[in-house]
Amino acid sequence: MKKISVGILGATGMVGQRFITLLQNHPWFEITVVAASPKSAGKKYKEAVEGRWVMKEPIPSRIASLNVDAVEDDLDKITKKVSFVFSALDLEKEKIREIENNFASRGIPVVSNNSAHRWSKDVPVIIPEINPGHLILIKQQQKNRGWKQGFIVVKPNCSVQSYVPLLTPLLKFQPKKVIVTTLQAVSGAGKTLNTWPEMQENIIPYIAGEEEKSEKEPLKIWGNKKIKISATCIRVPLKDGHMASVNIRFTKKVTKEEILRAWKNFNPLKNLSLPFSPTPFITVMEEEDRPQTRLDRMAGLGMGISVGRLRQIGPKSFSFIGLSHNTIRGAAGGAILTAELLKRKGYL
Ligand code: NAP
Repeated sequence: MKKISVGILGATGMVGQRFITLLQNHPWFEITVVAASPKSAGKKYKEAVEGRWVMKEPIPSRIASLNVDAVEDDLDKITKKVSFVFSALDLEKEKIREIENNFASRGIPVVSNNSAHRWSKDVPVIIPEINPGHLILIKQQQKNRGWKQGFIVVKPNCSVQSYVPLLTPLLKFQPKKVIVTTLQAVSGAGKTLNTWPEMQENIIPYIAGEEEKSEKEPLKIWGNKKIKISATCIRVPLKDGHMASVNIRFTKKVTKEEILRAWKNFNPLKNLSLPFSPTPFITVMEEEDRPQTRLDRMAGLGMGISVGRLRQIGPKSFSFIGLSHNTIRGAAGGAILTAELLKRKGYL
């Protein structure tokens, strides 16, 4: 099978680097463009990331020698070399909307990690296991904007992947209120403990804009269910991995066994054979001190969600701990799975 050519916008950043390592042997997609800011453009990729390549794996040799294009100035050149793009840009939201619109209006589908388009009414926010049906919005989006082939699909904020996949199979028990505290690694801010020394031996109980995203995005993903989510988002001195401590109150009585069964049976993509779909999607851990970030963030090659410490804390209330890998499931890997779903459903 001829592979589909893809470009990475923001290829030199934290999420961009993750795309490059994850797509190295992808059976369907092949990177043909790496693009970034004018500062990196014109250099070979390996020169552009010199001193700031933070992945454990080395730079794949084919990518190391690719020339970096400029996202904006080389727009026409890039569109000739790709069938779709992943966007991992970090700059002002207005600018990102403009750039992503420019690609889509030229017939190039965009799968974006950025929040710039998450609140555009006709842009679906996709977690493939949860709301694949929202891809139907693409037709409306193309009609609204006069685009024929191009479109924009986004993935949600990295924090929500550590609890929304766990709440989704529990929606049938009618949750009323969710209180979540996230413990988020520094790579979520595009940084390392070296480039962010203030984080060493420290916890910062504030991440700009994160609590609002963590409370509102799940409602769009579920189709605006009437659930009140209160979130507190905390930055912790870890390289990778977002943990979530969740309290949930249901309107109906539910048992611990019913919750465990709902998690274990939840794997809605299992019949689609998507390369990045993890089995199991949710790993339920029985040990009382799991999941742990360092031990469990790579569940399902970083695409799985781990959960443990389920406790009944009131007649209709439970608490539990969720964990996901923020730059794999929460960013590049989640976007790749979304692109696989788009391909399976005939959009790419
Ligand atoms: P990052 O490490 O700061 O990388 C930003 C990228 O954007 C770099 O490739 C940079 O290129 C490029 N860029 C900056 N200004 C540009 C310009 N004017 N024109 C073209 N390219 C420009 O950020 P990140 O952590 O990878 O995050 C990327 C996006 O993913 C953000 O929107 C973030 O919110 C989202 N996200 C991140 C995570 C995570 O865990 N890190 C999770 C989910 C979503 P240069 O190197 O040339 O400057």
